[in-house]
Amino acid sequence: PSRFAATPRGPEDAILGITVAYNNDTNPKKINLGVGAYRDDAGLPVVLEAVRQAEHNVLQRGLDMEYLPVAGSHTFVQRAIWLAYGDRIIHERHNRFAALQTLSGTGACRMAGELLTRFLDYGQRTTKPLVLLPNPSWANHKPIFTDAGCDVASYAYYNPATRALDIDACLSSLHDAPNGSVVLLHACAHNPTGVDPTPEQWAAISNVVMDKGHLPLFDMAYQGFTSGDMDVDAASVRLFADDGHRILLAQSFSKNFGLYGQRVGCLSVMTDSQNEADAINSQLKIIARPMYSNPPIAGVRLVEEILNCDQLQRLWRDEMKGMARRIMSMRSMLRDELVQLGSQHNWDHIVHQHGMFCFSGLTEHQVQQLRERFSVYLTANGRISMAGVTSENVPYLANAIHEVTR
Ligand code: PLP
Repeated sequence: PSRFAATPRGPEDAILGITVAYNNDTNPKKINLGVGAYRDDAGLPVVLEAVRQAEHNVLQRGLDMEYLPVAGSHTFVQRAIWLAYGDRIIHERHNRFAALQTLSGTGACRMAGELLTRFLDYGQRTTKPLVLLPNPSWANHKPIFTDAGCDVASYAYYNPATRALDIDACLSSLHDAPNGSVVLLHACAHNPTGVDPTPEQWAAISNVVMDKGHLPLFDMAYQGFTSGDMDVDAASVRLFADDGHRILLAQSFSKNFGLYGQRVGCLSVMTDSQNEADAINSQLKIIARPMYSNPPIAGVRLVEEILNCDQLQRLWRDEMKGMARRIMSMRSMLRDELVQLGSQHNWDHIVHQHGMFCFSGLTEHQVQQLRERFSVYLTANGRISMAGVTSENVPYLANAIHEVTR
């Protein structure tokens, strides 16, 4: 008999389960608003033109497919942290970043967790590191940090009554948390709520994080999706850098380069000295080596090609802006349709929230009704992936939402 015969079946991933149910639905009007991947106005997956051109250039070169070093492509890593921090901060601290290429944003978060477990307050800590997540946060954060050996708790973030940030509760829960906690912050385009702090609110969060000796860990999976501009969307991270924080930064290039399956990401750690950076780099490699030896090469070549060529970089930035703009226009259309249908509810939060997601406020029961009566699929918490909305399906969607919220 199999030695695994007693293995209990585990639960389906909530988000991936939605796609399975959607695929099995035969209604031609069905809409998938579950998955956090960009779609064009025809509802189709997108490969950016800049990526296509980069792919062509890379192919032309006839490169080999040798292993990357354990820490990945040095060029890519340098370009990645430059995208986040910009010229000035990189110039000021260029030799004080420890960083490595990761298996996209998920891998960057996981490496951050592994580093925290092993080396946060090295030699002085007697308990697991405590990572505070916003409530709510990306569903994968908790398992990532728990599996890495951290304790996980949450801090107040979203207020369902206002469908916006509860800044007072947020600040006081960060204040009440144990000193020296690790605070996970979504750099922009918060998943799942679409609610980002204003610049003033970021400044207040930075102050309490500093006062309490907390360590900020930024997860930046959607740089570009809040405003359309990579630099504007990095303002939170840059503010924290200027305020004197040492920052852990997990970057994903899945969404803003559309490289989902290529697994392109970066973890960087801001340190006080080149010595410290060297030590952390040595340990990051020791962590990575037994997990996967070295990261994949195909995706980072495309990002390097784009960022090393002015013309391609301009094209990519324009295309990024285009993705953000299309989502913004879908937000307006959806809100306007609901108003026109005579909905008695206030739907302004659809346009006030940012990035790929809208935290609609729909209840679990209403989400179920959408699915059963209209073949509209979204997560049970009412999160709508705005990237799945198109100018063609928005009237149908608005009507469905109106019907289940009457
Ligand atoms: N962090 C957040 C908040 C996300 O929403 C995602 C993707 O959905 C990720 C990280 C990681 O994505 P990936 O591993 O594809 O880069």
